[in-house]
Amino acid sequence: MNKTVNVLSVSGGKDSAAMWIYATKELGVEVLPVFADTGHEHQLTYEYLNYLEQQLGPIKRVKADFTKRIAKRRQYVQEHWPEKLVSSGMSESNAREVVQRALAVLHPTGIPFLDLCLWKGRFPSTKARFCTQFLKVEVIQEQVYEPLLIEGCDIISWQGVRAEESLARANLPEREDGEGFSVYRPLISWTAEEVFEMHRRHRIEPNPLYKLGMGRVGCMPCINCNKGELFEIARRFPKEIARVAEWEQLVGMAAKRGAATFFFSPDGAGSWSNIHGVVEWSKTTHGGRQLDLVKAIEFEDVPACSSAYGLCE
Ligand code: SF4
Repeated sequence: MNKTVNVLSVSGGKDSAAMWIYATKELGVEVLPVFADTGHEHQLTYEYLNYLEQQLGPIKRVKADFTKRIAKRRQYVQEHWPEKLVSSGMSESNAREVVQRALAVLHPTGIPFLDLCLWKGRFPSTKARFCTQFLKVEVIQEQVYEPLLIEGCDIISWQGVRAEESLARANLPEREDGEGFSVYRPLISWTAEEVFEMHRRHRIEPNPLYKLGMGRVGCMPCINCNKGELFEIARRFPKEIARVAEWEQLVGMAAKRGAATFFFSPDGAGSWSNIHGVVEWSKTTHGGRQLDLVKAIEFEDVPACSSAYGLCE
């Protein structure tokens, strides 16, 4: 009989942590926790993963490598961009400059999220959400599932999604067959309160970011981040905003049009020039036309502890 391996995706967020606690402490199931590192997480999440390892056991950490894809992109830029740029109306000398500018930054940095964007010449967006596929799904498939399948194991993929998170998730079944493995979603009918209760019952802390006003934990920021979350990130973690601003410069150099922004404007008008512009928008009200004075004061006056889930005493 084939050995069954319960692969549990750990993100550093509350749901996957609760699922791991539930599997280990309440069901007594042996699991293989896997973390796909995007290189775009908050330092507190990396520290929290170390804490979870001390409490629950080792995590297999994997990350995507874009070295070969970036090398191919360099070759493509060298061979095809000059002609394409000139045929679009650019002068030959300007085309040479654009090519040199892109080649200057088309080198792998070892930071998966940044390397993905350099390779693509753009950031992912809510409409072109390729980050999950390349940074998580593909890398777990290649580095975890495929070796297990070669060994002849049966895989059950434990996914910590909940119906109340979104309409799409509300329609997911608790169990289904995937490609070469089966899927189990033990938390599908759980509430956020039950997730935190699972932590409390076994005296395991949730990620400290929840007490710092974050509604979700993942990339910092995530492309799906809303106005309120961005406001909270910007006032608490200006270093993350500065890092994204640096990435916008680099990815912009790798882009044919010479610019790239982390967020796209919701009306598609391209009115935000960069992350700093979007942060200024997060302080506004009335569709971004007026500066909200209360929010402007709150931006400077950051409380030590606040939680969207009522975790603060
Ligand atoms: S957390 Fe957000 S930005 Fe990060 S991979 Fe997932 S969707 Fe993309």
